[in-house]
Amino acid sequence: MTKIIVIGAGVVGASVAFRLAQAGAEVLVLDANRPGGGTSGISYAWTNAHRKPPYPYHVLNVNGMKLHAGLREELGATPWWHGGGSLEWTEPERWDSFAANIAQLRGWGYAAESITPAEVAELEPDIDLALLGDAPVAFFPDEGWCDPVVYIQAMLSLATRRHGARVVLGARVADLTMQGDRTTGVRLADGAEHGADVVVNCTGRWTNDVVREVGLHLPLAPTPGLLVFTPPVACGLSRVLHTSVVNMRPDGAGRLMLHWDPTDLTVSLDTRPSVDMPQVADLLRRARQVFPGIGPIPAEAVRLGIRPIPGDGLTAVGPVPRVDGYYVAVTHSGVTMSPFLGVCVADEIVRGISRPELADFRPARFFN
Ligand SMILES: Cc1cc2nc3c(=O)[nH]c(=O)nc-3n(C[C@H](O)[C@H](O)[C@H](O)COP(=O)(O)OP(=O)(O)OC[C@H]3O[C@@H](n4cnc5c(N)ncnc54)[C@H](O)[C@@H]3O)c2cc1C
Repeated sequence: MTKIIVIGAGVVGASVAFRLAQAGAEVLVLDANRPGGGTSGISYAWTNAHRKPPYPYHVLNVNGMKLHAGLREELGATPWWHGGGSLEWTEPERWDSFAANIAQLRGWGYAAESITPAEVAELEPDIDLALLGDAPVAFFPDEGWCDPVVYIQAMLSLATRRHGARVVLGARVADLTMQGDRTTGVRLADGAEHGADVVVNCTGRWTNDVVREVGLHLPLAPTPGLLVFTPPVACGLSRVLHTSVVNMRPDGAGRLMLHWDPTDLTVSLDTRPSVDMPQVADLLRRARQVFPGIGPIPAEAVRLGIRPIPGDGLTAVGPVPRVDGYYVAVTHSGVTMSPFLGVCVADEIVRGISRPELADFRPARFFN
């Protein structure tokens, strides 16, 4: 039986661990902190393949969306995944790029419908239609959002209870252990060692922290994003909403999660988020433009998440050249893609099947 160490219990590591264990590997998951304690716990978590060129990258995301939906059939229930599609309209200056995006998505066979204000009102009756003006509105019926930590718990539970994997928390990996050009496992910060035939690095933005050898590091472009959480509010929003003034989605028990791309440009990796930030008041004001009925609301929380983005903006999944038995899986849009990446990694490592969908995303492209 192949012994595999999965480092990191975020959405990617949990998905990979489940599928590896299901495929018959002996799996040990090591996490320095707690399941979902990394980026996955601070994510907008919209499952989509929007504005994700080039085409092979779009396809990775579409496959992730399909597998989120497919898990419902496989498992019977997926309380962490919320379908219902997403709605989008934008400000007049961006109507051209909006139309171009819809045309490209339709050309790629992606479900993208144009809908009328009356249809918007049917889907989301609390939206202030005056804000729409003449804007074209698109509905993407196959999109949704995920509660990542609930998903992680389910994947780890399947991996451990059904397929015998083990999870050790508080285990900070400091380096690979090596014999010649082959990894034999990992060494923790406290000096303890764990042996394995294969090590899969799923530590996201910390990908380079678990290997000392600089020659094995991947270029990363960690990018901060600010998320504002409201208290439960009187608004019936039931799907992901991208508007001309703010983006938002439900976040449980009537809460809204707010995000606005331009706001992300005002924060840095060092920003210490606080509900007193002017950006927070601005996002709350914008949310009220969309839903006047929610009244004046405070923020319940504000969080800064760091997107784990490989240097060229695309996914990096596969073996790392120069070290046999060392494999990485790091990507933005990991919430969308992770169910698919889990299946691919298990195919490649346990079944010896090279997945063509990953051909353009090999870590080898970063090494000469
Ligand atoms: C603001 C924001 C919005 C986003 N929106 C979306 C979206 O709408 N849709 C989407 O699909 N994606 C979105 N993403 C991206 C998505 O959240 C990430 O791609 C995904 O969560 C990455 O998951 P991961 O498992 O790779 O990493 P993480 O969740 O960060 O997990 C890594 C794990 O590794 C552990 N670890 C770190 N170092 C070590 C070590 N030395 N030893 C052992 N363990 C270690 C950590 O404790 C952590 O648990 C967003 C991200 C942000 C920040």
